[in-house]
Amino acid sequence: MGFPDRLTQAADVLKIFEGHGYKAYFVGGCVRDLLCDRDVGDIDIATSATPDTVQEIFDKVIPVGLEHGTVIVRYAHQSYEVTTFRMDGDYSDQRHPDDVQFMQTIDEDLKRRDFTMNALAMDKEGTIIDLFDGQEDIGRGQIRTVGNGIDRFQEDPLRIIRAIRFASQLGFSIATETLHAMMAVKQEIETIAVERIAHEMEKFFAGTCVQTGIDYLQTTGIHEHLPIIKGHPGLVDRLPDPIMPLPSMGSVITLLHRLEPAVSIHEWVKGWKCSNKVKHQALELNKAMKHFQTAGLNRWLVYRLSEDCYKAFSVLAKMVLHSSVTYQDILAIDEQLPIHSKQDLAVNGKDLMRLYPDAKGGPWVGELLDILEKKVVTGDLSNDKNEIRDWVQWHPHDIG
Ligand code: ATP
Ligand code: MG
Repeated sequence: MGFPDRLTQAADVLKIFEGHGYKAYFVGGCVRDLLCDRDVGDIDIATSATPDTVQEIFDKVIPVGLEHGTVIVRYAHQSYEVTTFRMDGDYSDQRHPDDVQFMQTIDEDLKRRDFTMNALAMDKEGTIIDLFDGQEDIGRGQIRTVGNGIDRFQEDPLRIIRAIRFASQLGFSIATETLHAMMAVKQEIETIAVERIAHEMEKFFAGTCVQTGIDYLQTTGIHEHLPIIKGHPGLVDRLPDPIMPLPSMGSVITLLHRLEPAVSIHEWVKGWKCSNKVKHQALELNKAMKHFQTAGLNRWLVYRLSEDCYKAFSVLAKMVLHSSVTYQDILAIDEQLPIHSKQDLAVNGKDLMRLYPDAKGGPWVGELLDILEKKVVTGDLSNDKNEIRDWVQWHPHDIG
C-alpha cells in the first residue's frame, strides 16, 4: 500500500523500535482514516516497549500520560503519541480503568479499543492486523463496538458520544445492536467529566456529515443527558435543518445561545467548561450577528471580527440569519480595509496630545482615537497623518 508522506516519515519511528527489538504499529484514527481515504490526522503508535524504554530510545520524549503508558515522541520535527501495549483492568468508576497492565503483544491492546474501525493496527509495510473485522465495517460504513456494547459503554460512557461523533465525521451508520446498547446505557453519560464530553461534541458539530450525527442524537435521545441541553430538550428540534458543519466551539455556543436565548453565552461556556478563548469567540460572533441584523455586512463589522471567526460567521449567517454572506464576501471586505487594528492608525495618542499642548492627558485621548478609528475604517477619513490632523483641528474635541 502506498503511504501518504506523513506515514512514510512516521514509519521511520516504527523501524527504530524494531531495530531495538520491540514491536511497534500505527493504531487508531490514522489507520482508519487511511482506509477511509481521508486525510490522516494525528499519528498514534502502539509498542511493546515500556515508557521508560521509549525514553531511553528517543532523545526527545514528553511524558504526557505515563499512568496510561503514553508519551509523545518528537522525531524529525513531528510529534507521535506512543502508547505501550496495554490491557485495562476493571472500570469501577466508569472513567478510568482501575489499573493498566503493559503487555508484550498487541492483541489485548486492540481489544480495549472502542470500535472495530478504531481497533486496527498497521505495520511499517502496510500490513494490517484486524482482529474484529474492522475493515469490513469500514467497507460497510458501520460503527460497531469491539465486544458487547452494553459492557463497553458501561466501562466508559464517553464511547456513546464518540459513536455519534464518528457518525458525524464519517457519515457512517451505527450498527443496530450498538445503537440499542447506546440507548440502554445513555443515562450514564451524566457521570462523565464535562470536558471530555465537550471535546467530543466540538468534533461532532464540525463533522462534514453533522446532519447524520444530529439524526442519531434525536433518535437516541442522547441530548437529554448532555449538560444544559438536558434542561432544554426541545432545542435539538429547533436546530437548523439541514445543519452545516460548525468550524469551532465558539460557533457551536453561539448557535445554541441563539436557539435558546434564555441561556446566556456565559452560562453555556460555564456549563460546558469551555476555555476563555471559546467564550470570547462566541461573544464576538454574537455581537457581529447583531450588527449584521441592523446594518448588514460592512467594513466596521469585518474590522471588528477576528479573522479566525470569518468562516464561522458566514456559516452562522447562513443558517441562523438566512443570509447568503460567504467567506469570500468577508475576505473581499477585509482586503479593502485601510487598517486592521488601532496600531495601524497614522496617528497615536501622543500625536493627538501634541495638537492640544495645553491639555492634560485623559480619557479624551482614547475617545478621540476611537472616533478616528471608526472614521478611517469606514472610509470617511483616509489614514493619513495630515488629513487626520486637519480633521481633528476642524472638529475641536471636548478635551474636558
Ligand atoms: P481522531 O481522528 O479524532 O484523532 P481517533 O480515533 O484517533 O480519532 P483518539 O481520541 O485520538 O481518536 O483516540 C485514538 C484511539 O484510541 C482510538 O482510535 C481508539 O482506538 C482509542 N480510544 C480513544 N478513546 C477511547 C475510549 N474512550 N475507549 C476505548 N478506546 C478509545
Ligand atoms: Mg487520534
